[in-house]
Amino acid sequence: MTYRAAVLAFGALFTVVAFEEKIKDDFATKQNDDPLYKKIIEHIEKKQEFVLDEKDFSIPEVYRHMKNNLGRYHLVDDKLYYQSEKGLSLLCVPGSMREEFLRYGHENIFSGHRGVKKTKSILKRRVFWPCFNKDVEKWVRSCIPCQQRKRAPANSKLPLHPLETPLCQFDRVSFDICGPYPISEDGNKYVLAFCDHWSRFIIACAIPDKSANTAENRLDLNEFMVS
Ligand SMILES: [Zn+2]
Repeated sequence: MTYRAAVLAFGALFTVVAFEEKIKDDFATKQNDDPLYKKIIEHIEKKQEFVLDEKDFSIPEVYRHMKNNLGRYHLVDDKLYYQSEKGLSLLCVPGSMREEFLRYGHENIFSGHRGVKKTKSILKRRVFWPCFNKDVEKWVRSCIPCQQRKRAPANSKLPLHPLETPLCQFDRVSFDICGPYPISEDGNKYVLAFCDHWSRFIIACAIPDKSANTAENRLDLNEFMVS
């Protein structure tokens, strides 16, 4: 066996052991502490009706998921599992442990920080939770060590030039969109920021998406113009 093969084999063994460590002892208790899983477990164990009301779900995708997939949840040895479309029984990770599992799927002392595809493939063979794909993508994209290691392509930076001083208000303005942030009660998840370079006056407003149409419709500059 070559050195590389030995490292990979040990890495794979380490991954399996690390996973088994995570699901020991109080995993079922932690599933019961998760409000959504508690409701599903009671529905399965006590055959209680699962009342689905969209207002009870802060994330619309979770509501849609539950509406279509409640029948896929089942219990094995007191632990809640989800049957995937491929027929795999996937362990349901409670909200309190998702960060730990994301870290487990993304970071490995033998293979470093994996990309989105690899992180998903490691996790989705064993675990499940609603919005899994989105959470993995967000986790990998926001991983600081990965951002620090990412190299910019050669000559990708344009030279900076000082801007001319604007002559009056609204002579030069700039816009930017920040986010995504957690969805607000009004359904917004981005912040549109506007700055007038002459006065440094800033306007910020919440918007539901980052399309040009939404930004244009949301910010009516006429409201702020002084004639
Ligand atoms: Zn990373």
